[in-house]
Amino acid sequence: MLKYLLSSIIGLSVLMPVSAAPLSEAEVMAMAKRRLAQAMHVHVVTPELRKQLMAEFHPYLLAQTPDGLIVQLNDAQKLALAARGFWVAPAQTWKAAHLAWLKKQLEQRRKPDWCYPTVEETRVEAERLARIWPERVTLIDIGDSWEKTQGLADRDLLVLRIGPKTGEAEAKLLLTAGVHAREMAPPLLVLDFIRDLLRRDGVDPEITYFLDHRELHVALLVNPDGRKYAEQNLLWRKNTNTNYCPQSPDLRGADLNRNFSFNWGGSLSNSAGGAHASTDQCDETYLGRAAASEPETRAIEAYARRLFADDRPDDFSTPAPVSKPGIFVDIHSFSELVLYPWGHDYTPLPNPGLAALAERTAQINRYTPMAAVSLYPTTGTTDDFGYGELGVASLTFEIGRQFFEPCSSYESDVRPGNLDALHYLWRMADAPYLSGNRPRIVRSQQQWDSSGVTIRIDVESCQRVGCQQSAITAAEYAWDAPVPEQGGVAMTLIDSGSTTDTSFEARIDRNQLGNLPRTLFVRAANAEGRWSPPFALTVHEQSLPPVARADIDCEGTSCTFDGSESTSPDGHIVAWRWYVDDIEVGQGTNFVHTLSDGTHDVTLAVEDNHQQTNTLTRTITVGVSEQKPTATLSATCNALSCTLDWSANDDGQVVAVEIDWGDGQVTSAPARPEQHHYQKAGNYQIRLTATDDIGQRTSVVAYVAPTTQDEGHGGGGENNTSDSGGGGGAWSWLLLLFGARYRRPRRRWQRNFE
Ligand SMILES: [Zn+2]
Repeated sequence: MLKYLLSSIIGLSVLMPVSAAPLSEAEVMAMAKRRLAQAMHVHVVTPELRKQLMAEFHPYLLAQTPDGLIVQLNDAQKLALAARGFWVAPAQTWKAAHLAWLKKQLEQRRKPDWCYPTVEETRVEAERLARIWPERVTLIDIGDSWEKTQGLADRDLLVLRIGPKTGEAEAKLLLTAGVHAREMAPPLLVLDFIRDLLRRDGVDPEITYFLDHRELHVALLVNPDGRKYAEQNLLWRKNTNTNYCPQSPDLRGADLNRNFSFNWGGSLSNSAGGAHASTDQCDETYLGRAAASEPETRAIEAYARRLFADDRPDDFSTPAPVSKPGIFVDIHSFSELVLYPWGHDYTPLPNPGLAALAERTAQINRYTPMAAVSLYPTTGTTDDFGYGELGVASLTFEIGRQFFEPCSSYESDVRPGNLDALHYLWRMADAPYLSGNRPRIVRSQQQWDSSGVTIRIDVESCQRVGCQQSAITAAEYAWDAPVPEQGGVAMTLIDSGSTTDTSFEARIDRNQLGNLPRTLFVRAANAEGRWSPPFALTVHEQSLPPVARADIDCEGTSCTFDGSESTSPDGHIVAWRWYVDDIEVGQGTNFVHTLSDGTHDVTLAVEDNHQQTNTLTRTITVGVSEQKPTATLSATCNALSCTLDWSANDDGQVVAVEIDWGDGQVTSAPARPEQHHYQKAGNYQIRLTATDDIGQRTSVVAYVAPTTQDEGHGGGGENNTSDSGGGGGAWSWLLLLFGARYRRPRRRWQRNFE
């Protein structure tokens, strides 16, 4: 009896998990053991068989061993493999080693050299970047994780936008990372990419040019709930939705990369058999109860629809316009692949330019390009959604060789090649379907003598195996702005790609130089007349001035001044001096200073090893007692017409309210309630932003699913994909969110940029 009671209590506690964190060490160990119950060792002899099985069982793959694969298999899969002649046995040795590793990890808590930031550290870093580069960086909260929608945790889905200081750019690159929780490297890779761009802003003229002409949007961690398990060293993949697989909560959740709307749960062509997305709630590829049923999926879809125009019908045969700008890359690990649609069959893409873009990208990170279906059939994936619904050039990276990629191989191998690939795609986002066969200028040199300067550029010749690019035949330059359409000054071909690059030179006399430093723009063309994106360099004979950058982070009136992101293009910083209202208050990269209540000018002056200086001034206000506004939002739809009821309050005054309907339409100063008519049925995220009299902002979101049916002949609710709980007809209800529910610690300051 006692034993029975005990096990039922244990059973109960297992049946009612609330949140992915935190777990005790014993809980993590017990959970890992349960999750690995089906871990099997499949013996493989040849590299070909290994490759084939890795593809076939990719979502179930746990690790590789010298003589085989460790795969999570159900009984049917085991029998099928055995029938094909494979030797399949419980992975006892690997399991023991993995659990021993896990135990050691837990004892040490975190390895001192662990490089992957947690969910919380990722947010702190995103906020820091937005403070240091306020003109370049916007931190956007695009929605809540599943656990937050249930009131179980406080995890927002965050996007960093890095772009022009004013206005918008048509060429946009959207990156998503962390869709699958256990894939450690992708979220760090996207942060490293952002930091690499920002640190070269105003230092490297080419990067500065593209920062002014590209928008980069990065969803830093799409699945933060699952990530909390992965942070505890569990090989967790899905989100943590407890409605799925309630009988075995260790296996619960939906696979977000099977939950996207386009071709969700779709059938496969005859040519691509096998599992593509599982309807078994406990499976690692469970597709969710409906298309975009998960809040993480909905938030990404809504955001992508806002970024990219939809100019392709949702079929499998119509191409997107070849000049369409925009790229969407979903970054996963592991397998060293660049994947492109389709996931469900081998029909060639209507836009062959996308396959060419994938091939070119794969030459840069030295991965293998292939249609996603060739790896294993899938439906409801991010790239099928991006390309299928919106017609945007969409790829999936599978980076590295392990889920828990060691930091050493991440830094030496995974990061360099993939940063290069992301740099390439960022530049090509203006016309990706035409980019597979577009030259790329990779570096420049300048050599001075008494009468002038010789500029040399190297253009990637792309002579590696499988590279289709034609010969590079011409290069031109122009001063201060990109080479105009009608042409610039021709450069001389000096090396026609006998090694890996084609090189060109230009000799410029001193009397033609004007006042230095000055920016020189260059472009190169291939035999087909395709021009590279612009490349820019700073022509300078004297040393270049440093760039001052400051992070001023205040809690109350106590402020941390950090100047460590300041940089010198051709030397190093030797002194950092801080001034408050023109009075020097201290020196050094980093110190804490208490300000008096009110508004202050904080100035950082840096000096480099050539005695050149640069200053930056920020105006900040501290000690203001005002709180952020609070807002509420609820929406109902009748057919395509939706009614939004809202409120916004502040301890000062609400001065502006804006509603973004998620379909590209924005309403300023809305009525209460406000009506909106959607052009087509779909899932939309509505965002209300309230701004108070000192510029503090609060955003709240609600989801609606307007349909084309009206009340008169509405269906039984089966078309309703909003969180209506199965409500009737074409009425879609709510998801009511209170901005005040998760108030972050009050930060009593604001700042403007001067
Ligand atoms: Zn993945």
